[in-house]
Amino acid sequence: MNVLSNRIKSIPESATLAMAAKAREMKEKGIEVISLSLGEPDFKTPKHIQEAAKEAIDSQNYFAYPPVNGYLDLRKAISQKFKKDNGLNYSPDQIVVSNGAKQSIANVFMAMLNPGDEVIVLTPYWVSYSAMILLAEGTPVFVRGTIENDFKATANQITEAITDKTKALIFSSPCNPTGSVFNRKELEAIAEVLKDRKDITVISDEIYELINFGEKHESIGTLDGMQDRTVTVNGFSKGFAMTGWRVGYIGAPLWLAKASNKMQGQYTSGNCSIAQRAALGALTGPMEPTHEMARAYEKRRALVYNLLKEIPGFEVNMPHGAFYFFPNVRHYLGKSLADIKIESINDLCMYLLEDAHVSLVTGEAFGDPECLRLSYAASEDDLKTAIAKIKESLAKLT
Ligand code: PMP
Ligand code: GLU
Repeated sequence: MNVLSNRIKSIPESATLAMAAKAREMKEKGIEVISLSLGEPDFKTPKHIQEAAKEAIDSQNYFAYPPVNGYLDLRKAISQKFKKDNGLNYSPDQIVVSNGAKQSIANVFMAMLNPGDEVIVLTPYWVSYSAMILLAEGTPVFVRGTIENDFKATANQITEAITDKTKALIFSSPCNPTGSVFNRKELEAIAEVLKDRKDITVISDEIYELINFGEKHESIGTLDGMQDRTVTVNGFSKGFAMTGWRVGYIGAPLWLAKASNKMQGQYTSGNCSIAQRAALGALTGPMEPTHEMARAYEKRRALVYNLLKEIPGFEVNMPHGAFYFFPNVRHYLGKSLADIKIESINDLCMYLLEDAHVSLVTGEAFGDPECLRLSYAASEDDLKTAIAKIKESLAKLT
């Protein structure tokens, strides 16, 4: 008997995690798969952060339930970081630390959406936004940027998508999956569109802030009139190579920070105490390891860009941040090899997994059924081998 809720049935499995699991299964069977599906730094968490966690254990002071919204000294450090790095004013009581930025965003949607409320999602978007909106019984409204405009939705498109039911707008910059970075002018254009709709909250996901190769990182919350209606999301997973530690946070208007705190208090309680002490170590420690990782990503970006450009039929944009490429591969849709038919981007993604033994993620999961996502948070050798194999497998399709 299937007694699952409509709620859970309304969402797909996370495509990033599902693809990573498939690659893992194949590896367990002895197949050599190169995994470029999961957006996960291949670096170790910097030593000083590991030490902060060890000290927390040795001190014997951090074994009890932590405060739901996070330790005060961590929230103070986050508040200072927002001020110093981003020019944002969030007091410590406007900050909620969660089990990864993933939970931060889920909390916000659960706390603010009523059934039928619409959320404008700048598309391509990070895979979980739409599922989280659906779980909170909201309606995602996708506003799609294409490769021709660097995957950035325009202010005009956003204007057209706004209705009486619009409650929020969400986007990431640097963007997962496209690597696009919104500059100040582009953010100003979005803020201008929203000027007369103070009831719309902006959720600005800045988790890739520290992996940015171009212009200075800009936060939409710093623009005129935006601070009081912007939730700024950030976390430690990417910039500090701390995916497994699970620490993310928001700075939010006080009403929404309080509601997120209430939500989290009923669902999970405060985030892991030792991970929070590690996060404090990250914020107060040296930034050089982070900059070094960013330089390594930048070098790989150049390598991967040149290799992808050589694949016939690949349209590739140059990402300015994060660690993904999102090539448009519509050229291959409709092709086949014996009884294998590539009818969709999902078919192409599965074909590359099975034939080239390279795991990628289908663009459909990010709202673009003509693209594939490739994470270049992998070694240069793996990247070279994987792209050569992809090229070889694609050449077999006619
Ligand atoms: N936002 C974006 C854009 C992401 O790519 C991710 C994946 N790391 C998250 C949020 C969630 O990150 P985490 O839960 O690991 O902090
Ligand atoms: N954010 C990463 C990605 O997009 C990690 C996986 C996830 O949390 O979905 O691959």
